[in-house]
Amino acid sequence: MKYKIIGGTATALVLLAVFIISLLLPEDNGHRYVEHRDAPQKAPCTTHEADTFCTHLPIVSVNTDGIEIPGRAILDAEGYVTGYTMAENGAETVSATVSVIGQEEQRNHLTDSATFTAAAEIRVRGHSSRRFEKANYFIRFLNPDGTNAPQEFLGMEAHHEWALHGPFLDKTLIRNYMWYNISGEIMDYSPNVRFLELLVNGEYRGVYLATETVTAGKEGARLNLQVNKKDNTFSGYALRLDWGESLDKAIHPFTNYTMRANTQHELVYPGTQNATPQLREEIKNEFSLFEKSLYSYDFNHADHGYTKYIDIDSFVDYFLINELTCNYDAGSLSTYIYKEVDGRYKMCVWDFNSACDAYQEQAIPTDEFRLQNGLWFKMLFMDSGFTDRVIERYYELRKTYFSEEYLFGFMDDSVDYLGDAIDRNNEKWGYTYGSDYDLLHPQDRNPRSYDEAVTQMKTFLTRRLSFMDENIETLRHYSAESKTKKYSEVSD
Ligand SMILES: [Zn+2]
Repeated sequence: MKYKIIGGTATALVLLAVFIISLLLPEDNGHRYVEHRDAPQKAPCTTHEADTFCTHLPIVSVNTDGIEIPGRAILDAEGYVTGYTMAENGAETVSATVSVIGQEEQRNHLTDSATFTAAAEIRVRGHSSRRFEKANYFIRFLNPDGTNAPQEFLGMEAHHEWALHGPFLDKTLIRNYMWYNISGEIMDYSPNVRFLELLVNGEYRGVYLATETVTAGKEGARLNLQVNKKDNTFSGYALRLDWGESLDKAIHPFTNYTMRANTQHELVYPGTQNATPQLREEIKNEFSLFEKSLYSYDFNHADHGYTKYIDIDSFVDYFLINELTCNYDAGSLSTYIYKEVDGRYKMCVWDFNSACDAYQEQAIPTDEFRLQNGLWFKMLFMDSGFTDRVIERYYELRKTYFSEEYLFGFMDDSVDYLGDAIDRNNEKWGYTYGSDYDLLHPQDRNPRSYDEAVTQMKTFLTRRLSFMDENIETLRHYSAESKTKKYSEVSD
């Protein structure tokens, strides 16, 4: 028995040593598949004619038997969106077959046989992008009886819901790819993504990015959210702040009825099928507890304040990533917050199309911070403890993921990886570089070529980082005590 105990002690010591070493290593959230680093290299084809469609990316074909995919913006005479197109039968989606030619080792051709085929329903997704010629799509894989049919897709964990994002406003094609991947390295979760080239009913549509939606996955593959259907209690959920178009998804927690939020809280998970009125009420009440504590005089109190409800690191990183990229829909639109099983509230990044100087209406000034005025963050920044962590984390990230070396290297490598797919995308959409198709205002912000688009993003990042280096400490102003009203003074 003696050496058993010794053995046990030795094992414990080894485990302890491993644990201590793991604390010293940089944060590791497990291996994330970053395509330009992890995809196998493919040798160029030498056997066919130069004009054969030949790509190292997977080819995804969506076939609806020629039926137009609904969900496009309907515009009035002034160009305002008045609604979205519907299928002939009034449905939001149409049936489709989704097939993939995705060979591991070799380049892909239209004549190669499909490596994946599945039945799905499809519609156009997004908000402002629904008016663009190059549409974004939502697909749901289906069984013949209409129930969800989770499928592993382009090497990502099985699920029934996917977004196919077609970069259009983002002329570099890499904004979402880059920031989802970098966020995924920094934060606990960010949607996994894979590049592809898309055909819809046989017509080439350019370079797309298959993207996980922010929702529950099997065994925590995406987010570990589960509904206990048996007794109708819940253990996890995801909310999104958005325009409030999905009235059936709306819940109205504290900041909604106190009018602090100017956008609507939508329940993303559980979906409308599983979200019973009772469950929605419970989620609303629980989320309101957090918001009430945050917007209270006791907001930074150890027992009664916000700290027991949220994963602070997640809010810190969300703030820094969206500030670095000047991604200013974040915090009010397409803004995801979730609570995993036994977890605290965390944020999830979404949509960097308008980030890094691609905001349409105007150039976003690079010399100011904004998200500290947003919902939740306005209160968080009143807590000097939170602000300290933001500043500390910025300096830490600046040496790694926020260094010019890392960021520009990431961009160059992603562009190299896309390679001739960029040319094919340009053949289809290159006319949008013309001055009669300028999406950004004022006009001189529009890049005239792919290379200019990449340079524009680098120039932006250099300016932004330089501003943040010089001014990150000024965020402390938001935590300063008021001379007339001691907001954060709490007596036990
Ligand atoms: Zn080939």
